[in-house]
Amino acid sequence: MNFHSMSADRLRDTQADLKKRYDDLKALGLRLDLTRGKPAPEQLDLSNALLSLPGEDYRDGTGTDTRNYGGLKGLPELRAIFGELLAVDPENLIAFGNSSLELMHDLTVFGLLHGTPDSDEPWGRQKIKFLCPVPGYDRHFAITESFGIEMIPVPMLPDGPDVRLCAELTAGDPSIKGMWAVPTYSNPTGVTFSEEVTRGLLEMPAAPDFRIYWDNAYAVHTLVDAPPTPLPVIEMAAQAGHPNRVYVLGSTSKITFAGGGVAFFGSSPENVAWFSKYLGFKTIGPDKVNQLRHLRFFGDADGVRAHMARHREIIEPKFKIVLDILEDRLAESKVASWSEPEGGYFISLDVIDGAARRTIELAKEAGIALTAAGSAFPYKVDPHDRNIRLAPTFPNTDDLRAAMDGVSTCVLLASAETLLA
Ligand code: PLP
Repeated sequence: MNFHSMSADRLRDTQADLKKRYDDLKALGLRLDLTRGKPAPEQLDLSNALLSLPGEDYRDGTGTDTRNYGGLKGLPELRAIFGELLAVDPENLIAFGNSSLELMHDLTVFGLLHGTPDSDEPWGRQKIKFLCPVPGYDRHFAITESFGIEMIPVPMLPDGPDVRLCAELTAGDPSIKGMWAVPTYSNPTGVTFSEEVTRGLLEMPAAPDFRIYWDNAYAVHTLVDAPPTPLPVIEMAAQAGHPNRVYVLGSTSKITFAGGGVAFFGSSPENVAWFSKYLGFKTIGPDKVNQLRHLRFFGDADGVRAHMARHREIIEPKFKIVLDILEDRLAESKVASWSEPEGGYFISLDVIDGAARRTIELAKEAGIALTAAGSAFPYKVDPHDRNIRLAPTFPNTDDLRAAMDGVSTCVLLASAETLLA
């Protein structure tokens, strides 16, 4: 029954019943974890062929000996595959390292120390700010927080960040130099930016050295047959008169091995030259053997898509378990709403205002780890104390069922407590 239309007495009775159910849950002594947006071991197994690649044949198609130094931009054939998947001209795409987060970190550090090609002075000499769509990815916010960059939350709407508000803010404040963005199956909301919102972000007036970190981490991580087509944002930015505005990022972390994949950075020729210059002081070149391994493993962009279809077979049932349990246990009470993502790695659960922290605390006491309250917000402050990020991929299906049933009990109990307080 709808908690909001219950009398206080009725709600107190319901709370007492829930408390009993919660005590039973605690007595089970569970040790479950819904915090980790990691591939499950069976997903990693899909890429085990990488462990014996590239074999003795260590030259790429251009004859490069991948065992040696050099080739800062990465292997052209691998860049061609991911250029297609990320809608970036392979000439303007770098394949580097195993982590796109590292690239985002470096892009920020280089901006702070040297300034971008469009900066009058290094970002680090000014008090700068970034726009942060919320809820968003905690590790993005951790990068900006670690450098003392002020973070301004902007609401995430069903078709992307509130672009009108973004435009108002950037037009009026040239100290806003950056924006975090996850355009496809966003972490944690699952939102995919519409073409209209994308255009708005590329066109809006802003400081000349304003940069959008277009983190397309989930470009190919679909749970539906007709995934969104990636937008050629670098070309679109140029057409909008802001050729250097976007940094496109991606990686194979959740395609092959989360700790042993390949990361990508794409942007305008000027930005790529700027980044490569400073990257060249850090290293003589990337791990091209790993890049060759990936190239042989995939063959082409369709090889990546076929591989992602196998991931989908493993994770789609897990998403369904979470959504079915949420519907079954929480729909009637009207104390929660949740995203029904068509891809990506997360389900975003909103409880009634003021009940998220308590839900997470109750779950923890019952042995179910949930992502810490406020994690998806700058400075870890969820102004409404309502958002909980669920990560269904890592646990096995039995654990996932037990965990979600337990979480539902915690949501209901925390909601009853909050409404009665
Ligand atoms: N970007 C987003 C939006 C993510 O959700 C994650 C991982 O959860 C990453 C980047 C990390 O990417 P990488 O492993 O390439 O550093």
